[in-house]
Amino acid sequence: MSTTDLAAQPGPGWDEAQCTAALAHLEQLQAQLDDLRLAIPRVIEPFQRPPNPATFKLYAQGVVGSQNDLKNLHEAWRSPETQRTLEQVKLSLTKNADLAASASIPSHGWVERERREGVLKKENRSETVEDFGNILTDEDIAGIVVGFQKTYTNIKLETRDENCSISTRFVSGAVMLKFHISIEREANGRYKLNAECLGTTEPWQAITRCIASRPQVNDLKYLLDMIAAYKTVKGTSCAKCKKLLDNSLLTPTARRSKKVAGDSPELVWEALHEGCLG
Ligand SMILES: [Zn+2]
Repeated sequence: MSTTDLAAQPGPGWDEAQCTAALAHLEQLQAQLDDLRLAIPRVIEPFQRPPNPATFKLYAQGVVGSQNDLKNLHEAWRSPETQRTLEQVKLSLTKNADLAASASIPSHGWVERERREGVLKKENRSETVEDFGNILTDEDIAGIVVGFQKTYTNIKLETRDENCSISTRFVSGAVMLKFHISIEREANGRYKLNAECLGTTEPWQAITRCIASRPQVNDLKYLLDMIAAYKTVKGTSCAKCKKLLDNSLLTPTARRSKKVAGDSPELVWEALHEGCLG
């Protein structure tokens, strides 16, 4: 279903924020569907090169990864959030079946818009995440964690030690990724963020190196968004060299953000090989 189908009217009983959230959710579903188009290319890609010791492993990763993607889509489709939205669409259509206005509603950008509006609300309340500098209070951390969980409903953060230890795990492509962040704080409020992707071999060690070399090194929200990008941006091909595998036969192990065109503050995340980081 296209996101434009929903956008005809604000809908009975729903305010603009609820409609934006629903459109953002549908946009994410659409992205999951779009990604599934690459399922077959991912499975057969390893056979399009001379056989090598990694051929079977990559083939198996492609198959298992595609199966997981299907399962995730199935779960997302049956989720209460999706079902509530579909109910709302039915209700809205029975009240007014004229969908003409939906032609002017963009089908993309809702995820970013929802996130930006969340940030604006926070700005009105206090300061932005970028303004924290080297001070991070318990309240700041809790707010960032809660905001993250609202944005990425399919990624669960586990916090311990009063939020100073944050863990998450999810399947990305065909690989289970487990991340751990520890927040080291000194008495004066200054802090340091340590992040790693657990695992003693590749690709996990490369992912840890790519996270360690991130920009905005003291920004917890940015770090969490980067980790989420390992789930939302599949490492199908590198944004720089456009290839799937690098010389070490690794798929892109880095995630980096870039601004979308124009004056918009929106960020998009891309997958890159470690060696393609500029
Ligand atoms: Zn590359």
